[in-house]
Amino acid sequence: MIPMLKRILRTGIVSEPPPEALAAEQREVARLGGEILRILGRALTIRQVDAGSCNGCELEIHALNNPYTNLEGYGIKFVASPRHADMLLVTGPVTKNMEHALKVAWDCTPDPKLVVAVGDCGCCGGVFGESYASCGAVEKVIPVDARVPGCPPTPVALLQGILAAVRR
Ligand code: SF4
Repeated sequence: MIPMLKRILRTGIVSEPPPEALAAEQREVARLGGEILRILGRALTIRQVDAGSCNGCELEIHALNNPYTNLEGYGIKFVASPRHADMLLVTGPVTKNMEHALKVAWDCTPDPKLVVAVGDCGCCGGVFGESYASCGAVEKVIPVDARVPGCPPTPVALLQGILAAVRR
């Protein structure tokens, strides 16, 4: 054990620093996360609702919790139930099959609640638009406080949208 500790101390940190573009993104995430916490003065809990997306937006939402962006480090975390959430982060378009479920999730979220529509599909229906199977934008089904356009939006854009909703 002692030799191993000595070896760890001798070796030091061998991983490379992140590329500058990534470091700049980390600084922006830290700034946005800090500002959200400063406005709220407490943690923010988010329930993500996939109302019919292609899952491209979900991949970027997952990235919010990876070791680079480390959203939970700023007190912003995803929860499993809308009953425990301050905010719904909704990807769309809202399919007819998910219309009722989205309304139920919105009803179950305690007031005061915030809704962020994510991606071009969530903002305006995107490439899917409105049809016999799709209601289109999230705002066609529930009230929306902020929109994050993009196909899909980046983690930084998602945080900017969350901040815009919190500022309201
Ligand atoms: S905005 Fe783009 S990535 Fe997001 S659900 Fe629509 S098609 Fe998929």
